[in-house]
Amino acid sequence: MREPAGVRDGMKIHLRMLGCRLNQSEIDRMARQLEQQGHTLVNDAAQADEVIVNTCAVTADAVRSGRKLIRELHRQNDRAHISVTGCHAQLAPQEIAALPGVVRVVGNLEKDSLVAQITGQPVAEFDLEPHERQPYPGAGARTRAFIKVQDGCDNACTFCVTTIARGAGRSRPANAVVQEINSLHQAGYQEAVLTGVHLGSYGHDLGDPDGLRRLVQRLLAETAIPRLRLSSLEPWDLAPAFFDLWQNPRLCPHLHLPLQSGCDDTLRRMRRHTRQHAFRALVQAARAAIPDVRLTSDVIVGFPGETDEEFARSEAFIHEMDFAGLHVFRYSSRPGTPAAKMRGHLPEATRQARSQRLLAHAAAQEERFAARYAGRALPVLWEHISGASEHGFLQGGYTHHYLRVQAVHPRILTNHITPALLGAYNQGAVQATPVIE
Ligand code: SF4
Repeated sequence: MREPAGVRDGMKIHLRMLGCRLNQSEIDRMARQLEQQGHTLVNDAAQADEVIVNTCAVTADAVRSGRKLIRELHRQNDRAHISVTGCHAQLAPQEIAALPGVVRVVGNLEKDSLVAQITGQPVAEFDLEPHERQPYPGAGARTRAFIKVQDGCDNACTFCVTTIARGAGRSRPANAVVQEINSLHQAGYQEAVLTGVHLGSYGHDLGDPDGLRRLVQRLLAETAIPRLRLSSLEPWDLAPAFFDLWQNPRLCPHLHLPLQSGCDDTLRRMRRHTRQHAFRALVQAARAAIPDVRLTSDVIVGFPGETDEEFARSEAFIHEMDFAGLHVFRYSSRPGTPAAKMRGHLPEATRQARSQRLLAHAAAQEERFAARYAGRALPVLWEHISGASEHGFLQGGYTHHYLRVQAVHPRILTNHITPALLGAYNQGAVQATPVIE
């Protein structure tokens, strides 16, 4: 591992991340801290003095991609000092330290001090000053902010490396979350997405089993951010009364409930705390309480011992649930997890074939959900511009229930929420016409 650079003012810093929204929220937060300290965030790694990479270890592919990214960054700029954090850095620090250009490997528990370690300057616990309205190079655009409210997990799903990499569950104080969201809203953000490794357990470590519901109530009462969204929620964390929160239209009608398998036997081996009947009841309660709710999920195919019959049961249940979107993961053995030691690991060809079947199903479900809204005007938060033509700018954004929308309009709509008339669904996005006076 190379020596870290000395502390300097006005450094140029390039930020990269792989993996989940939690990693995104952490890199966004580092961006804000660096900018507050007067450093410059650059889009191009070749111009950077320092590079920060937030890695992921959820699958073997994610691990490979992280290492490849670090090598590539070093090829682009062999003068830059690379600091690496995240789940892969936590689990395999020596492997990361041996990569070219790496000067610092920081585990997840010390991640909050990474910016201070690089710059030698203290960081604010949350952002007190409004920022200028412009996207952070290498971080998310300033329309939708990911807010980490919780880290770690006390469950023990047998496939999951995240608990090993992130440790026990711990929650941020609600006051700090309220202040951070107010600051982000003042800075121009229109949407806040609450994230955590196990978001549904928010507050449990502080002695409040109803912590997430109380946090959302406070955020709706004490902030004016136009949109609040919850990221992934484990299905066993939610009581039906939780859905009463959606009586407030600022809470986006989008629920991501990771199922992982629709077969009870597989769920038992995964040590998931849900079964078909409980999941079905939860989905029915959500659909009854939240008009227009968009329900999405995750599923792992090819878990050790998943027979053809188990997969068929899982597939039938997934059809029945009629998700509007589905992330399909091929099981990937992660060292240190109980599943890695189980019998019945399946050949790649079987995992691939099952994945293809569910992906085809997921694409059809997504299209069907989008078709329901054709001809309706829904509010869209416009997030980016991807091109221009003689008719205007090609703009992209999301509805409140997280349907991706594209439109051409002569005015730049970025960071505004405007109604748009939804049309046909094409290649993952709904074509729309903004309704602007
Ligand atoms: S709930 Fe299960 S899958 Fe999710 S982080 Fe915890 S152990 Fe991992």
